[in-house]
Amino acid sequence: MSDINKVLIVGGGIGGLCAAIALRRQGVAVDLVEIKTEWTVYGVGIIQQSNVVREMAKLGVLDRYLDAAYAFEDVGIYDVQGNPLARIPGQRLAGPEYPANVGISRLALHQVLSDTAVELGTQVRLGLSVAAYVDDSHGLEVTFTDNTQQRYDLMIGADGVYSKIRGMLFADTYTPRFTGQAVWRYNFARHPSIDHLATFTGAAGNAGLVPLADNLMYLFSTSHEPDNPWYATEQLAVTMRERLANMGGLVGELREQIIDDSQVVYKPMEVVFVDEPWFKGRVLLIGDAAHATTPHLGQGAGMAIEDALVLGEELFGDGSLPERLQRFMTRRFERCKYISENSILAGEREMARDPAFDRIGLTKAMLKLTAEPI
Ligand SMILES: Cc1cc2nc3c(=O)[nH]c(=O)nc-3n(C[C@H](O)[C@H](O)[C@H](O)COP(=O)(O)OP(=O)(O)OC[C@H]3O[C@@H](n4cnc5c(N)ncnc54)[C@H](O)[C@@H]3O)c2cc1C
Repeated sequence: MSDINKVLIVGGGIGGLCAAIALRRQGVAVDLVEIKTEWTVYGVGIIQQSNVVREMAKLGVLDRYLDAAYAFEDVGIYDVQGNPLARIPGQRLAGPEYPANVGISRLALHQVLSDTAVELGTQVRLGLSVAAYVDDSHGLEVTFTDNTQQRYDLMIGADGVYSKIRGMLFADTYTPRFTGQAVWRYNFARHPSIDHLATFTGAAGNAGLVPLADNLMYLFSTSHEPDNPWYATEQLAVTMRERLANMGGLVGELREQIIDDSQVVYKPMEVVFVDEPWFKGRVLLIGDAAHATTPHLGQGAGMAIEDALVLGEELFGDGSLPERLQRFMTRRFERCKYISENSILAGEREMARDPAFDRIGLTKAMLKLTAEPI
C-alpha cells in the first residue's frame, strides 16, 4: 500500500488540474485550493502541440478534449507579408487516428479539465490558499487562509509564476523577471485559410494565427516593450494596431478590425526557473511555479501537463519519497530547462532583430525533443 494517501494541490490552473486528474486516477484523495473566488480564465486560446495531445490521451481525457478543440496537422511559417517560408508537418504522437496538434480556447480547456477533476472526486475549495505548514517528516500540517487545518502526505504548489508555495520553499531566491517583451492577443471569426497554426515572422514583427474552433481563431503578436509600460484599457486597441503596423497579408487585414479595447488581452512576459530540485520534504512545485517561460515555443502549459503526468507515474513507484521525487526531477529537469532557455532565447533574438537567428531550426529541434518519450 502507498504511503501517499492524501494530497493537497495549491492552484487550479492547467498544471494543478492535470495533477488532480493523474492522482485521482491512482485512487489518492485530492483536495485542491484555488485563490480565485470565481474559477474562470481569460478568453483567448492556447496552442497544444503533439506531445500534449499524447499526454492528454494518457490522462484519459483525449476524446473530451478533442471535442472542445480545433485539431490541425501542420505549422506554417510565413514572412510578415504572408509569403510562405516553411511548412512543418505534424507528428501524430497519440496514434494514427488522432490529430497532431490542437488549438483550444482557454475557457474550453479549463472546462474539460475542471469537469474531469471534479467528476473523478477532487475536492475543490475556491477563494482559499495556504497560510502556513509544518512538515513533521511523517506528514504535513497545513493551515489555510481561513484558519482551518488539515493533514496531508504531500503538497503540490501549482500556483503559477507568482507562486506563494515557491516563496515558502525558497524565500526570494527565485522571483519572476520581465524579459522586455509582451504579447498582444485578440479573437476573430476563423478565416478559412487558418486551418493550421500560421506564424508570421521577420525583423519587422512577429505574429501568429491559431484556429480554436470552426468559428473562432485568435491573433497573437509579440512586441518589445522596454520599460514594461502600463496601458489603460482605452489605449489597448490602438496600441495593438500600432504594433502590427508593418504586417501585411491576412494579419494586415485583420489589424484594422482590432477596435474593441475590452477584447485585447495584453500580457508582459515574465519568467522564472528554479535551478535546483523543485521539492523539499513533502512539498513539490510543478508548472509555472517551477519553470515559467515565454510563449515563443508554445510549450509552457505543455510542460505543466507533462509534470502532472510524470508525477502520477513516479509517486507510486518503489523507494522512499525523496527517491521517488528525485526520479520525477530526473525526468523533468533538463526537458523543462531546454524549453525555458530556448523560449527566452527566441525572444531575445526577436528583440535584437537578429536576421541570422534560425527560428525554423529551433522549432524543428523543439518538436524533435518533445516528441521523445518523457
Ligand atoms: C501570453 C502567453 C501565451 C501562452 N501561450 C501558450 C501556448 O500557446 N501553449 C502553451 O503550452 N503554453 C502557453 N503559455 C504558457 C501557459 O499559459 C502556462 O505555462 C500555464 O498556464 C501554466 O499552468 P500552471 O497551472 O502552472 O499555472 P497557471 O495557469 O498560472 O495556474 C495557477 C493557478 O493557481 C492559482 N493561484 C495563484 N496563487 C495562488 C495561491 N496563493 N493559492 C491558491 N491558488 C493560487 C491561480 O489563480 C491559477 O488558477 C502562454 C503563456 C503566456 C503568458
